[in-house]
Amino acid sequence: MSAKIPLPSEGAAGGESAETATATCYCGAVQLRFPTEGDGFVETFICNCTDCRKISASAFCTNFIVKQSATTHVRGREKLTKFAQDNTIATGNTMQNHFCSVCGILMYRISSGFPDMYVLRLGTVDDFALHEGKLRPSVEQFTKDRVSWFHGGEGVKQYEGNYYTGGKEWKSMHEKL
Ligand SMILES: [Zn+2]
Ligand SMILES: [Zn+2]
Repeated sequence: MSAKIPLPSEGAAGGESAETATATCYCGAVQLRFPTEGDGFVETFICNCTDCRKISASAFCTNFIVKQSATTHVRGREKLTKFAQDNTIATGNTMQNHFCSVCGILMYRISSGFPDMYVLRLGTVDDFALHEGKLRPSVEQFTKDRVSWFHGGEGVKQYEGNYYTGGKEWKSMHEKL
């Protein structure tokens, strides 16, 4: 077993030179394959918003966004259970959260504001080297809500509030900040 993969995860794939990688839940029942480059990969960002704190059961989230059209469910799609609400989303969008019904891990979120995207969590990516490389965050948002003992991502562009354009669309990492 690779040292990069803390739990046995059948079919795990990744690598800096590959165009895609896998993301797997904690128990291994649900696995996705997503693009790590090109048009299908949009952004990795740190979010300190109060919703991310609550749903992560932690102090902040490291998320990344990929296009649904470029992402496939390798296994376990039928094991995903959904919960949606809009009370704690700063944009007012409804977030539909898709959890593994076996181990409870949040695999992805779909926002009503950009329904053709998946918002995934960095920690689900099997190849941990990608967390440092291709999937390293470039943006940090809601720094106004950040806990006082965390000073933000190093070399990451900081935003006090939301990093959306007009509250709706994500800027691509390919655009100039
Ligand atoms: Zn699971
Ligand atoms: Zn957030």
